Amino acid sequence: MKFAVLLIDLIEMAGFLFHETIFGPVKSRRFGISLGINLLPNDFKICSFDCVYCECGWTKDVVPKEYHYVDSKIVREQLEAVLIDFSENKKPIDNITFAGNGEPTLHPEFEQIVSDTIELRNKYFPNTKVTVLSNSTTLNDDRILNSLLKIDNKIMKIDAGSNEMVSLINRSLNNITLEEIVLNLQKFHGNLTIQTLFLRGNVDGKIIDNTTDFEVNLWLDHLKKIKPNSVMIYPIDRATPALNLEKISFEELNVIAEKVRNLGIKAEVF
Ligand code: SF4
Repeated sequence: MKFAVLLIDLIEMAGFLFHETIFGPVKSRRFGISLGINLLPNDFKICSFDCVYCECGWTKDVVPKEYHYVDSKIVREQLEAVLIDFSENKKPIDNITFAGNGEPTLHPEFEQIVSDTIELRNKYFPNTKVTVLSNSTTLNDDRILNSLLKIDNKIMKIDAGSNEMVSLINRSLNNITLEEIVLNLQKFHGNLTIQTLFLRGNVDGKIIDNTTDFEVNLWLDHLKKIKPNSVMIYPIDRATPALNLEKISFEELNVIAEKVRNLGIKAEVF
C-alpha cells in the first residue's frame, strides 16, 4: 500500500472505486490529512442508495452471493499497522474517515469496527478526529445510530427538500422516506453536519432539480428541525452514471448557502 499523501479532496476521491480497505492518506480541504477506511468491496459498490450522480457508478441490484465483507479483525489489523507506521515515522493524521465504495454503515460489523477504530485512535493518535460520510438511511437501526453517536464528525446526506425529489436523485433501495430520515437525524441533537449535492438534469424523461425555491425552502425547513452544526454544499464534480446532469455554479450554490447562514447555521460550498 502506498502512503503518499494525495493532493486530492476526499469526497472527490469517492468518485472512483477504492481498491484497498485502508487508503490514503488523502489531503482534504475539510478534513486535513485524512486516512480512509473503505468497509465496502474493493472492486464494486454496495449502497442503500443508487444516486444518479454517484461517481462510483450505478449500485448493483444484488450483492453477489459469494461476497463477504472484510472481517472486522482484518480492518483492525490493517488500521493498526498503518497507525503504528505513521506514529513511528512521526507522520501526522488529522482524520480517520469512514468513506469508500458505498455506505459504510451497511457493514454488518460496523459497531465493532467503530469501537476498534476509536480505541486505536486513542492509543496512537489521541488528537486525531474520527469522521464518517453516511447517506443517513440506516439510522432506524439503534446499533448503527449509537455507533455514529460515538464518532467525532458525522457528515450525513440529505439531497433535496421533497420526498419526490429525493426519490428521483437518490433512488433509495430500502424504501426509507425523507420524513424518516429527518426524524432520525434529529436524534443527533445537532451534533452533525449535513451534506447536500445540488444538481439539475433529466433522467429517464424525469426532470431533476433540487435548486428550485420550492425544493430549497423545504430543505431549509428540514435543516431547521435537524439544527446541524454545519452544512456542506457541493456541485457535481466528476463523471456521473446518469447523463444529462448539470453542474451548478459556485455562485448559485453560494446563494443557497447564504440562506442556510441566515438560519444561523454555518454553511460552506465546496
Ligand atoms: S449514497 Fe453515496 S455511495 Fe451511495 S449511491 Fe449515493 S453517492 Fe453513491
